[in-house]
Amino acid sequence: MKLKICEKEYLIDDNRVKRDSLLNILYYIKTKLDHTLSFRSGCRSGVCGSCAVRVNGVEKLACKTHLSDGDIVEPLKNTKVIRDLVVDLENQKGCLENSKAHLDKRSDTQITSKDEKAIDLQSNCILCNSCYSSCPVYEVNSEFKGPFALTRVYRYVHDKKELNIQEKIDTVQSSGVWDCTLCGNCNMVCPEHIDIKNDIMMLRNISVQNGYSDPHMANFNSGFDTNFGFDPNQF
Ligand code: SF4
Ligand code: SF4
Repeated sequence: MKLKICEKEYLIDDNRVKRDSLLNILYYIKTKLDHTLSFRSGCRSGVCGSCAVRVNGVEKLACKTHLSDGDIVEPLKNTKVIRDLVVDLENQKGCLENSKAHLDKRSDTQITSKDEKAIDLQSNCILCNSCYSSCPVYEVNSEFKGPFALTRVYRYVHDKKELNIQEKIDTVQSSGVWDCTLCGNCNMVCPEHIDIKNDIMMLRNISVQNGYSDPHMANFNSGFDTNFGFDPNQF
């Protein structure tokens, strides 16, 4: 079968393509066909998130993906390519830090299994960066805090061990929850099936409960004609 990887075409035996994961094929190409091919991998079992790439334009973990004839493999989008499938993830790491998506002031509250369950899904994020690659807002605004940072903020806002919740809510007001278009692209590519879009909507609700409002709606209302074109002064 013919596979296109980073603009280069490789002919791979049909049985190998049917049998092996994309990650194993990348290792095969590197060891047998093209020593220069560069890619990232870690656990080889869908846990570390380091092998995320795009297949035919859709973000996938290479270790969990099988290819077909003519498939095109490319690096993640919305970031600088260092070489072949290896991309620069510094900005995304910065998004996480800027979002205060970590435990800040620890309480002594006892955590129950029910409390753990409430943030279990968000805690499963493997930082594969697929969501940032698929996000149309991050594509045009690298200041946008972005999907995994926001879902992680949601996780810590609901962590009973965290005392400094207000700071997290304050932090996601700028280039954060209100900038998301709720398109759901991030949900569709997340290998952990995290409902990121819902987490962002929930953060919006919490923001409103804390006195914030959608800044875009404020702009919209300021230009709205509440008389619907009717001028009471004309009579
Ligand atoms: S739902 Fe929001 S965070 Fe997710 S991809 Fe769309 S714009 Fe980005
Ligand atoms: S939220 Fe999902 S897609 Fe985004 S980094 Fe985490 S595991 Fe990957």
